[in-house]
Amino acid sequence: MKKLITNGTIVTAADRYEADLLIEDGKIAAIGKNLGTGAEEVIDARGAYVFPGGIDPHTHLDMPFGGTVTSDDFETGTIAAAYGGTTSIIDFCLTNKGEPLKNAIQTWHEKSKSKAVIDYGFHLMISEVNEQVLEEIPLIIEEEGITSFKVFMAYKNVFQADDETLFRTLLTAKEHGALVMVHAENGDVIDFLVNKALKEGNTAPIYHALTRPPEVEGEATGRAAQLTGVAGSQLYVVHVSCAEAVEKIDQARKKGYQVWGETCPQYLVLDQSYLEKPNFEGAKYVWSPPLREKWNQEVLWNALKNGQLQTLGSDQCSFNFKGQKELGVGDFTKIPNGGPIIEDRFSLFFSEGVKKGRISINQFVDIVSTRIAKLFGLFPRKGTIAVGSDADIVIFDPNKERVISAETHHMNVDYSAFEGMKVTGEPISVLSRGEFVIREKEFVGKPGSGQYLKRARFGSQEKPAEKVR
Ligand SMILES: [Zn+2]
Repeated sequence: MKKLITNGTIVTAADRYEADLLIEDGKIAAIGKNLGTGAEEVIDARGAYVFPGGIDPHTHLDMPFGGTVTSDDFETGTIAAAYGGTTSIIDFCLTNKGEPLKNAIQTWHEKSKSKAVIDYGFHLMISEVNEQVLEEIPLIIEEEGITSFKVFMAYKNVFQADDETLFRTLLTAKEHGALVMVHAENGDVIDFLVNKALKEGNTAPIYHALTRPPEVEGEATGRAAQLTGVAGSQLYVVHVSCAEAVEKIDQARKKGYQVWGETCPQYLVLDQSYLEKPNFEGAKYVWSPPLREKWNQEVLWNALKNGQLQTLGSDQCSFNFKGQKELGVGDFTKIPNGGPIIEDRFSLFFSEGVKKGRISINQFVDIVSTRIAKLFGLFPRKGTIAVGSDADIVIFDPNKERVISAETHHMNVDYSAFEGMKVTGEPISVLSRGEFVIREKEFVGKPGSGQYLKRARFGSQEKPAEKVR
């Protein structure tokens, strides 16, 4: 079935122009004027932008953490993502030491297969490197198309890997064509500071931030970047929150190291003072790394504008305030870390970034979609509007104003981190491989319609992903 999107303004990471878009068999078949013959359906996008669908490279759906499980699974999470203009996600597959990696991947397939409404892939957590892991990794890259690994430098005695593991992961990734992602905070020092705070009776949510100062993020970021230089490998630093970390990424890039950095909406618009909200409400704003002093926001915006940081992830990791965040009453270390963001990443970034003149509209597309597709082996199948690409399309009204609220959002969680915030610009309709998932702001998709994404090896993104796999 052919669909024609007419009268819209197509925006990519490079261009902005008025043209019609013909969709056939889930792909973009033609771009131009007067393509009107033979389309069964014509969609009028007058006054709207036609964007490539957002790609969220950082989600935690249906993930166990601290004795509880994130409240959004692959169904509610991907529906909310689609409402927000995101048409692909890459979720983190957690592994258990001593168990075959393929078992963990199987678990993640089971969580997602019949639920996802948009396309999805997995990053794989690496917490140890031994003979078994080294044997499995080439097979996983080849058979599963998982071409990015995540190493935690924090969460001591839970997820944290040591430097040897990080270094050997970097070497392995270089050898086989994968990108290493790091959660960069010094877990040993944080562990010490946390125990000290608890001993001194400092148990309120604000101590979550005070025991993870920006220097420990800067230190770990610098260490990971230096090790990447030694290994001659490639590194992607997730959720960069502060000036100290931006500086380290910038220094490494200036030396010619292959290092990229991601930030998240929460670090761009919220700050450390939110953790001091009364009645334990500060727990809603507990992320790791923590929210920082407000002046860091300008540093992060400038870093995105200047290309020192390259992408925006959501770090979607939702826990209800009632019953989940509340686990940390009287002990901030028991507050599950994370927040609900998947739905707001795209439009909040458009509103605060493009509408407020901080970044250009082409940078917007690059940061929320195109660059992510390129780094994670999805380009040009995803991340752009071009003939032959998947028809993952967002029809976006740039002038619609709305107020973000838990009352109206679609995530399965009882609060919004951005409650009451006014944003300009809203996705009206969203298509995944040519099929409507959101139509005129109504969900019309089907759980299970999202496809698993096998991704190309790092550095081979000039070739279509499906041929490389
Ligand atoms: Zn995360």
